[in-house]
Parts: sequence; C-alpha cells; structure tokens
Amino acid sequence: MTGLNLDLNIDKHNNATLVVECPDCGHEVTHHLKTLTTDSMLPCPCGTQIGLSQQDLNRASAMHQLSIAR
Ligand SMILES: [Zn+2]
Repeated sequence: MTGLNLDLNIDKHNNATLVVECPDCGHEVTHHLKTLTTDSMLPCPCGTQIGLSQQDLNRASAMHQLSIAR
C-alpha cells in the first residue's frame, strides 16, 4: 500500500492542518492534525472516504515537528 499524498499547513499559532490529496479525484481535503487518528475518515466531495494509516500519521507528525522547529 502506498501512502497518501500529504501536505501540512501551519498557522501563526502553530496549529497544523493536514492537507490530504484524494487518491481518486485529486481534491485536497483538509483536517486539523491534532484531532486525526487512524480511525479518522476524511470525506471527499467525490464520495471517497479517505482513511489514514499509522504511517501516514507518522509522516504528518514528522512534518509538523520539522515545521515548528524552524
Ligand atoms: Zn475525491
């Protein structure tokens, strides 16, 4: 299984919003990183429910650490 295409937006309060590209339509779905778990399903407007693996969450968390360490 390949990982999802992930990106991370950090606001001025260091709150991280995860941007997940839908594997089916390419739409970018956003969700607060803080409240994401491997049980989370992100609904895309195309009808796909995007699930995050532990590996995806680890990558997102690593991106967050890098971003706030600047
Ligand atoms: Zn989609």
